[in-house]
Amino acid sequence: MAKRSAVVADQSEPAPKNSLSEAEAAAPRSYEHPALAAPVDSFEGVGPSRAKNLRALGLLRLGDLLEYFPRDYQFESEELTIDKLVADQISTVRGEVVAVDYIPMRPRPRFEATIDDGTEKLALVWFNASYLRSQIHPGKLIRVRGRVKYFRNMPQMTQPKWTTIDESTERIEESKFRPIYPASANLSSEQIGKVIDENLDRALPHIEEWFDQAVLKKRSLIERRRAYELIHRPNSFREVAMARRRLVYDELMLLQLGLGMSKRLRDGRITAPVLRADKVLDERIRARFPFQMTNAQQHAVYDIIKDVKSGQPMNRLLQGDVGSGKTVVALYAMLVAVANKMQAALLAPTEVLAEQHFLTISNLLKESAVKIDLFTNRTKKTSRGSISKQLAKGETHIAVGTQALIQEDVEFANLGVVVIDEQHKLGVKQRALLKSMGHSPHYLVMTATPIPRTLALSYFADFDLSVIDELPPGRQPIQTKWLRPKDAIKAYDFIRKEVKARRQAYIVLPMIDDNGLDDSKSVRAEFDRLSKGRLSGLRLAMLHGQMETEEKHATMLKFRSRETDVLVATTVIEVGIDVPNATVMLIDNAERFGLSQLHQLRGRVGRGSEVSHCLLISDATTETAEARLKAMTQTGDGFEIAEMDLRLRGPGEFFGTRQHGLPQLKIADITQEIELLQQAREDALEILGKDPKLSAPEHRMLRDALIRQFGTALQLAQIG
Ligand code: ADP
Ligand code: MG
Repeated sequence: MAKRSAVVADQSEPAPKNSLSEAEAAAPRSYEHPALAAPVDSFEGVGPSRAKNLRALGLLRLGDLLEYFPRDYQFESEELTIDKLVADQISTVRGEVVAVDYIPMRPRPRFEATIDDGTEKLALVWFNASYLRSQIHPGKLIRVRGRVKYFRNMPQMTQPKWTTIDESTERIEESKFRPIYPASANLSSEQIGKVIDENLDRALPHIEEWFDQAVLKKRSLIERRRAYELIHRPNSFREVAMARRRLVYDELMLLQLGLGMSKRLRDGRITAPVLRADKVLDERIRARFPFQMTNAQQHAVYDIIKDVKSGQPMNRLLQGDVGSGKTVVALYAMLVAVANKMQAALLAPTEVLAEQHFLTISNLLKESAVKIDLFTNRTKKTSRGSISKQLAKGETHIAVGTQALIQEDVEFANLGVVVIDEQHKLGVKQRALLKSMGHSPHYLVMTATPIPRTLALSYFADFDLSVIDELPPGRQPIQTKWLRPKDAIKAYDFIRKEVKARRQAYIVLPMIDDNGLDDSKSVRAEFDRLSKGRLSGLRLAMLHGQMETEEKHATMLKFRSRETDVLVATTVIEVGIDVPNATVMLIDNAERFGLSQLHQLRGRVGRGSEVSHCLLISDATTETAEARLKAMTQTGDGFEIAEMDLRLRGPGEFFGTRQHGLPQLKIADITQEIELLQQAREDALEILGKDPKLSAPEHRMLRDALIRQFGTALQLAQIG
């Protein structure tokens, strides 16, 4: 039997006052129970001005309070007097400020204060906090909390938390666990907490359980009502964790249900051109390639053919390690479109890459009737105009370009296949723009960032996935070495040797210019130093993001045609550059790069039949930097690297701030809660398998919640 929460419904609920603005009233959010729609100014202790401030935070009604989750918790211990403080313990004391001082010393200016509570004095230090000068003055009463250290027999706290108090502020008599709410300029966390605490008991009884006990047990989840109670009123971090687990699971479950349903809806609704691909065509396309496709490429091609034949838009993520040969697979898809009298577009994240793709494809399609055009910001205005015309008339078969291709409302006569290279560098928005051109094209996204499969499936729940997990034959593993800076000479001598053997090298540095702050190396400084020093006599060139596009282009072209030996560059070369004759990748200050980034950079070599080398120069001292560099020397496998990177950094950072195009979540962090995400996904798919429209009575609540939370974002109107 489910344990009923101890709270009782407030029977004497006042009738909701009609105080919402018209706009609010016009589009009222729906709540799981009508009582939860009671407006916020109908509560005890909430007058008009507080109500206004609450509404400004989006807290319009009782139900919103429930879902205004704390951003953190604070363990508030009882207040001590200063003479009772014990070294190394975190404690809370109050006192009057008796002295302040600001020491603007670089690099860490500090603000100091001393408080006195009548028993003794306590010194306080804050770094980089000049704003405190206007907030903490002698005579002010404050409460501080921090770790106590003794310095020359005087207690001291560094970076303590502090609040203003007055004589009447009660002392904290017992230890307490307190939620901290996202505050606004007009409402403090404490004020918000008070409103929530006072109204929680009124809201909780209207929260009903929507899963069976069996599900709760299987996934170790507490009851919904209990979860809402504990997230606001926990007694320990353990209770916070229990509450969070349940609420996060629910949110992820609803999201997965929603994604699953929207995919089904779309599958049935939107049509895409049916592209014919038979054996004759297959042979014709293959004959264009100077090599046999690997099994993995083969499989990806099958997946694609299956998709483009289906009549529904392909939405496929083609994931493969650097150098695994994604371009050829993409070209295959584009040629299928062309053979079906349709057009194809390939979008690259940078001009350098677009040009490279253009060259590669033009080369492979030499002497064919396929007309390819390049469209970037570098393309002259006049020829852009004529290319636009040809695209609109359908005379250009394959357009290779950058965002320029989308931005300047280029119209295609008959766009059948869109390929996007390195999706994570090209926003979700731009993707949508392309989709909306005329009918829906088939859509292939290539990414070299090896996303761990579990995450890929949930994160890109909208996509089908093909993985190229095999390198073309004849590739030699890249020899990776980690050198300390004192041995850097060996690396430069090695580059000389390789260049003598007619091969080329990259040298990558973390910065363009010296910044004068630390001793990280920069492209310009190293270019000068090496041209005159260890690499004198070799043909060096620079490549970095501050260069004009023209110049970048010319530099790349020269490197590709072997007119330069060594390219000294920033990470602009990270993505996709393909110069098989380059056999050395030297990365200096390697500790400054992330693991996946190092792997991407390494992938710029090892593209030909010669043995290639990756030389990492670093005096890394931190544990994680060392772990990254060791990982690089130990494995060349992109997926292993990705998993390791995920472990070292956590997925939040792994994905950076990249937009993922998913609806806003209230509590779950989709990149942090992989395990729960996976479980929720499994459960959601199971539910949808049995009840695709969630129409069974036992799914009523889930279905309502789904529409409430994600209906608009996922365009689920049709299931309502
Ligand atoms: P990426 O997956 O990094 O985009 P590319 O498509 O640029 O890889 O391919 C890397 C290199 O491997 C290119 O020079 C390409 O011509 C070559 N290549 C691709 N597939 C094969 C294959 N099956 N056999 C031999 N070489 C291949
Ligand atoms: Mg590529």
